[in-house]
Amino acid sequence: MRNLPLPDRDSSRADLTASVREYNYKIPRGHKLKEDEIAQLLAIYDRYDADLGAASKILKGAAFPKSLIDAVYAAYDRTQEGRLLYSLRERLFKGVDLCPICGIDSVSELDHFLPRSEFKPLAIYSRNLVPSCHDCNHIKLAGFGEQADGELALIHAYFDELPNVHFLEARIDISEGGLVATFQVMTDVDLAENLRDRLKHQIKTLELNERYEKEINTYLMSHATGVHLEYARDGKAGVRRFLRTQARIEERKLYSNHWRPTLLRALSRQEDFIDGGFVGIFNVPQDILDDLFDEEG
Ligand SMILES: [Zn+2]
Repeated sequence: MRNLPLPDRDSSRADLTASVREYNYKIPRGHKLKEDEIAQLLAIYDRYDADLGAASKILKGAAFPKSLIDAVYAAYDRTQEGRLLYSLRERLFKGVDLCPICGIDSVSELDHFLPRSEFKPLAIYSRNLVPSCHDCNHIKLAGFGEQADGELALIHAYFDELPNVHFLEARIDISEGGLVATFQVMTDVDLAENLRDRLKHQIKTLELNERYEKEINTYLMSHATGVHLEYARDGKAGVRRFLRTQARIEERKLYSNHWRPTLLRALSRQEDFIDGGFVGIFNVPQDILDDLFDEEG
């Protein structure tokens, strides 16, 4: 979980006037946007910013004519490639590679932080559109038609400032040759109570542990050679140093609370793993190990 820079909203007015229009297709459709309606829509954007993306009734625009609300809702389809608002999508994706929520996959979709179906006036508002991967977007869509009263909000990558400290940790269990890592919010780190609960809520709701489980063994395999070599050279101290260094490299490349460096940090503290337990986890075929140490020797 990480923050993304807050997108500007310079094009908000132009985006609305370009994409919300009346047109004739046998009968008049769409909506002829009036100046006072633009002002009211921008006021809703202001309110969204002021509340840092928190859901509220006013953001649903119940007082607007239905034709206006439906036209703003439909305008989002024009952010698709080759269409009128594609530049909005391009700007939001620029410089964002990995999904800011899970850190597993590349970004490929725009998530309406407040769902488009319920908060139609925000359908094309840049700050309600967060680049995300397919899985995060779809798990979220499936779970949230409407945010129930009192339900914790998910973390907003633009507005919920995450502290620049490690707040994620992995609990490692090794049994019967398998490695299971459970990611959780650290208990001994200073976080606002609400943020702690929301981070926990995010991990659970977006099924992050289940999804990381599928990634972990493939990812760890990429460090099998390094760990074996370091163990041969310097025993568990070598493995610990290797994992810590690798964690620091990945943390700089990615970010502090990405699951990969978090996993490596946890493994570097796992005495069983660093003192030979890794052999059964990596399960490298013996002929490959023989060749590795022949060449080393
Ligand atoms: Zn994701």
